Amino acid sequence: MADTKEFMSFLQQKGFVWGPSPEIYGGLAGFYTYGPNGKLLKHNIEQAIRHIFQRNEFWEVECPTVMQKEVWEASGHLGGFTDPMIKCYNCKAAFRADVLIHEFFPDAPQCTNDDELLSLVKEKQMKCPNCKGPFEERIIKHNLMMRTTIGVDTEAYNRPETATTTYLPFLRYYDHFRKKLPFGVFQIGKAYRNEISPRQHLLRCREFTQAEGQLFLFPHQKNTFAAYDSVKNNILPFWSHQLQVDKKAPVWLSVEEAMTRGYMKSKAYAWLLHLAFELFIGMGIPQNKLRLRQHHPDEKAFYADDAWDVEIELQSFGWTECCGVHDRTDYDLQQHEKKSGVILSVQAEEGGKMHPHILEIAFGTDRPAFAVMDLFYQAAEKGEGKPMFKVPYVLAPVKVAVLPLMKKDGLAEHAQQLYATISKVYVAKYDESGTIGRRYLREDETGTPFCITVDYDSLTKKEVTLRDRDSGRQIRIAEQDVLRVLGALFDGAPFEGQGKVM
Ligand SMILES: [Zn+2]
Repeated sequence: MADTKEFMSFLQQKGFVWGPSPEIYGGLAGFYTYGPNGKLLKHNIEQAIRHIFQRNEFWEVECPTVMQKEVWEASGHLGGFTDPMIKCYNCKAAFRADVLIHEFFPDAPQCTNDDELLSLVKEKQMKCPNCKGPFEERIIKHNLMMRTTIGVDTEAYNRPETATTTYLPFLRYYDHFRKKLPFGVFQIGKAYRNEISPRQHLLRCREFTQAEGQLFLFPHQKNTFAAYDSVKNNILPFWSHQLQVDKKAPVWLSVEEAMTRGYMKSKAYAWLLHLAFELFIGMGIPQNKLRLRQHHPDEKAFYADDAWDVEIELQSFGWTECCGVHDRTDYDLQQHEKKSGVILSVQAEEGGKMHPHILEIAFGTDRPAFAVMDLFYQAAEKGEGKPMFKVPYVLAPVKVAVLPLMKKDGLAEHAQQLYATISKVYVAKYDESGTIGRRYLREDETGTPFCITVDYDSLTKKEVTLRDRDSGRQIRIAEQDVLRVLGALFDGAPFEGQGKVM
């Protein structure tokens, strides 16, 4: 693409993303507003997620976004959910040490503790990006939790992830699903993290939308997981820890071959990792822009058994982590049982009572939305051509634009009637201002797949022109066939054959 600046101005000018918000107050870093086109796009991405989860028997729930202190003490967030912060000695500006090192020295080794970070800052003689001053010689553990007060004096926190809030009604799920494991639930909702100094647009927000799926099952069910057989022959781009160490590229392997190589420990986990990949394909990310990266042994959270990330190769920011798939074992239910005093073990079919394990897919919808905009935005070529947003048709914010050739002679009224019919089925738009060429261009810039033009022949012959975004080709169809033809086209039917070619 396009330089990043041009892409960012596209996002603002075309009503995708505005901010940092609130702009008239100068903006707060890490908070953004989705404009009409961005919101529709994000909504379509979330609908794709819902569809795929539901098809795989995960059921959506919605839990509160604020919970009391005890919950976050038990989950470990209050004590340990921190980022390493470093401050400028001169201007006191604060930065996230690991991110800063990576920004300036992409090839620097990955640090796993604060001492290593500090010695790298010294060794590289890093200076404050604001004032070029020296850094303080200490790393401060900055907690990411956003505190609030409920009622008069109850200490509470905005959730930093949906997952913890999803675990807590476990006994309710257990009854609801008739005391049979495994079962899956998911949540799509807001979460909050008090990031130190977020500077990567939607990739690092202080308020963001998460989408997380949890699979509850007994440990002995992990390797008798029947759904595994339906995905084991599919191939995925695995980038194992060893391949990373050897500086080799990811390899495309069947899930079964990856299991044979010992990349994953259980069939249930392998199935879930495959589901994560499927989710990103469903969100419109091309498969050649995806890879599955295994965590380094010392990078894994202390509870995690198997742990892989899904990464997307962005035009603007390069390879970016967008999803974690974790085997959390029975860690969370054990923790919440201890803290709440409520027994969270249940009867297994064989053996006695036990705590189920939780396998999870943890991601959000802001990064995929950003990725779709990043990957499908095409800047105008120098001197000629025009910018386009070549988003997959099913994800396009507006699906159909209805355009009268002229405003006069009853064309506008006729087009409005057609618009009323189409907008009952599709997110559609009516536009009568400017030349027809200019209006096509506007729709291409925001990714509208189809434009329907009403002209003088429409009044007499009841025919309209249907234009396809990607090819620019046009066909002539009967007005009464418009919905049927659109339906066929969104189902993937070829454009030719739907009407008279013009
Ligand atoms: Zn400074």
